[in-house]
Amino acid sequence: MKEQHLHKDTLVVHEGYEDTEHHGSLTVPLYQTATFSFETASQGEKRFAGAEEGNIYSRLGNPTVRVLEERMTALENGQGTLAFGSGMAAVSAVLVHLTNSGDHILCSRGIYGCTFGLLGIMERKYNIKHDLIRMWNEEEIERAIKPETVCIYVETPINPTMELVDIQAAVNVAKRYGLRVVVDNTFSSPYLQNPLDFGVDFVLHSATKYINGHGDVIGGLLTGNDKEEMESIRMTVQKDFGGIMSPFDAWLLIRGLKTLPVRMERHSSNAEKMIAYLKGQKLVEEIYYPFDRDSSQFAIAQRQMRAGGGIISFTVKGGKEQAQLFMDSLSLIKIAVSLGDAETLIQHPATMTHSAIPEQERLQMGITDSLLRLSVGLEHAEDLIEDMKLAFSVME
Ligand code: PLP
Repeated sequence: MKEQHLHKDTLVVHEGYEDTEHHGSLTVPLYQTATFSFETASQGEKRFAGAEEGNIYSRLGNPTVRVLEERMTALENGQGTLAFGSGMAAVSAVLVHLTNSGDHILCSRGIYGCTFGLLGIMERKYNIKHDLIRMWNEEEIERAIKPETVCIYVETPINPTMELVDIQAAVNVAKRYGLRVVVDNTFSSPYLQNPLDFGVDFVLHSATKYINGHGDVIGGLLTGNDKEEMESIRMTVQKDFGGIMSPFDAWLLIRGLKTLPVRMERHSSNAEKMIAYLKGQKLVEEIYYPFDRDSSQFAIAQRQMRAGGGIISFTVKGGKEQAQLFMDSLSLIKIAVSLGDAETLIQHPATMTHSAIPEQERLQMGITDSLLRLSVGLEHAEDLIEDMKLAFSVME
């Protein structure tokens, strides 16, 4: 299907699949196979030589995985997508693709803990350095560029502080210096934000989160705006490092993706109700949710996001002890890392997702001991608020 004018709500259901030879199967069939047989030896030769299109071996491509890839390409307004076995496999593939020994990567000042870990490995083993900086405007970004800088790597909203990067500012600077731009779009999903529309080169997702939405798959997706370049990554870094997605996980993600629009709307409206409650709660110090009118970044949020999504971070009075007491006093809301699931989850970044980051750097990123990250799920907002009320009452 190539109807680019279709709405995202329709694309999530139909894009990339037409039942021409699948026995009338309404849903996308699962091709759970490692390899594909050729009719003749010469057909095999042609496929390896790239002279004939068709399947060879599932590490190089699989029909079920391909439907997911095409669907994501349409949702992110891109030209090609590659599916990986985890979000981190997508992050590492794009960074390996873009960098050589001695290069420099300019990063937003908050990035996912394992991305930070990967950058450390790249520095130690390959002398690929990085800087983490605030990216609220072009000047801040331009000032940090070095002669060795090759790409700008951005998370927005940043996990877990919910700080935004001005995507257009990053792209404007990158264009002036011939740099590539990568955006980790995990927190917004392609339903709420499409970085490629601003001129970004690559957008990636931990598909484990909103794309799947049901907490039962680990996966990653990388979409680019250059079809040939995406195919070249498929046949180099992806094929040879081998971090591919399994057909079954792609099948589950295709199923999860169908409800992305309705889920994102509910996550966002539930989050708004939770924020209204948190604003009146005296034990809450700060609330971080850029799509809120009171946020200093509301103008940027409105320029690049369609709604705020389901992640709220907030600080409670009393530091780590009180933050942990609050978590322990919840019952409906589960203590767990990950996000984007039907279940509302809460975690303490300083001792969980970001605990590997040295304290000083962690504090510079704004991840204090009193910060909590809530992934608002799909339950009824009143039940979630009631759960929080009871937990706060224990702290008083
Ligand atoms: N990027 C962000 C923003 C994340 O939150 C995560 C995981 O939490 C990742 C990347 C890594 O994804 P995965 O756990 O699927 O490897």
